[in-house]
Amino acid sequence: MLGELATAAAAGLTAGGLYYGAMAPWSQMYGRTLIAGCDQHEIALTYDDGPNDIHTGHLLEVLAKHNVRATFFMIGERVRQRPQMAREVLAAGHCIGNHTMTHPNLLWCSASRIWSELAECNAVLADTLGMVPDLFRPPYGARRPHVLRVANALGMTPVLWNVSSCDWKITDPTALMSHVQQGLRKTMKQHRSSNILMHDGGHTALGIDRSQTVVATAMLLDKCIDIGVQFVTPERWL
Ligand SMILES: [Zn+2]
Repeated sequence: MLGELATAAAAGLTAGGLYYGAMAPWSQMYGRTLIAGCDQHEIALTYDDGPNDIHTGHLLEVLAKHNVRATFFMIGERVRQRPQMAREVLAAGHCIGNHTMTHPNLLWCSASRIWSELAECNAVLADTLGMVPDLFRPPYGARRPHVLRVANALGMTPVLWNVSSCDWKITDPTALMSHVQQGLRKTMKQHRSSNILMHDGGHTALGIDRSQTVVATAMLLDKCIDIGVQFVTPERWL
């Protein structure tokens, strides 16, 4: 009986460890992913789940005002729904990455589904924007070795993050801004660059309200631009 309990406990710990390895943004257990560089003055603003009218457009205005280049991990389905918005992001000079075709949790997808999710998103980006992305961000940060292998086979570097804005649950821009600042202080203390996860769209529907992210971005840029911070894209850390 004790032996059985010990075996069950060990299996639980192993499963927990494997799950942690697949989900923790900083984990390198299942293969190398790009997170951030070593210059604490560098920050990458990354936005997932778009394009999304009207908030992606508002975000472009804020970024243009400060002459800052950001990264947009787009969902293929959203690009199909809002191709013109995707073109505007590209025309504004931002970096565009693959965030799958329909935003599933790839941890639970078959090998063929993983391939089609990544490849179809690339095909939509190529068709709409005439470009093939170099960067890939797995939905929810969920990956296992096969996900990373497929991304690499398609010529993309998997990118995670080290500062989560939690903008899907913090709806007050000031609270959102201070949450992000807290994360920035932590990475700076570790002498790391910061890769901030935010959202300009939503994986459940088009038109999701991301006004808090737009306002918090404007506040962050106002604060950071004069204190020697350099805004970069993750490609800088390759
Ligand atoms: Zn997402």
